[in-house]
Amino acid sequence: MSDFLDYGVIKRKIESEVCSEHNEYSKFIKTAKGFQINSCCESFKMKLTEKVKKIITKQTEIAVQKMFKKVFKK
Ligand SMILES: [Zn+2]
Repeated sequence: MSDFLDYGVIKRKIESEVCSEHNEYSKFIKTAKGFQINSCCESFKMKLTEKVKKIITKQTEIAVQKMFKKVFKK
């Protein structure tokens, strides 16, 4: 996992989601190797994992765009 990822944003987005089946919130935990999601059931966890991947992809795209802008300014 890269340094430019904003885990605070990811955490807020994931922990604001509620399981449609059990009405429970999940817990997003940043680990040394990446992240972990504690949730009431596997299907909710899978849904949240997909969401995290999408957010990470988006943040990566933005970071790359910023890097390119910096390069071309010089
Ligand atoms: Zn659930």
